[in-house]
Amino acid sequence: MLTENQLIIDKIHEILQHVKDPEIPSVSVMELGMIENIKVDNGNVIVEALPTFVGCPALDIIKANIENAIKDHLEHINSVICKFIYHPPWTSDRISTEGREKLKQFGIAPPPEFFTETGLWSVHCPYCDSAYTTIENIFGPTACRSILYCKNCKNPFEAMKPISTL
Ligand SMILES: [Zn+2]
Repeated sequence: MLTENQLIIDKIHEILQHVKDPEIPSVSVMELGMIENIKVDNGNVIVEALPTFVGCPALDIIKANIENAIKDHLEHINSVICKFIYHPPWTSDRISTEGREKLKQFGIAPPPEFFTETGLWSVHCPYCDSAYTTIENIFGPTACRSILYCKNCKNPFEAMKPISTL
């Protein structure tokens, strides 16, 4: 039974590689590091996901997309429930290397990984990779992403807010 469940979990991982964040269609929920746990018991599937950004309205859509994708691609499943958990907190460094690359291709600067020595976030332009050091309050308290303008190549680009749900 255990190995059978493991096979189902592996399959679910594969399915979730194709479930995208509705706001960032190039990156999957797996690449964003949102999937914390998958439990299978007697054909009942529970996916525990970490919400990436508190207050983002896309969570209901993501939940439905995850549940529907699993129902559509797995046979002999009784129920699928995706629930959001808050421990451990999601942090932007859970985004995989591949996920960060895809964000850039989509014209979104991945969340910065470090503070500069001045304590400000350092954001790199997704087009020319020039360092764009921005002041902290450029990010609104609830917005997931901000529009910035690259000082080097003059392109506008979006940056993900460097946060955790702590
Ligand atoms: Zn640039």
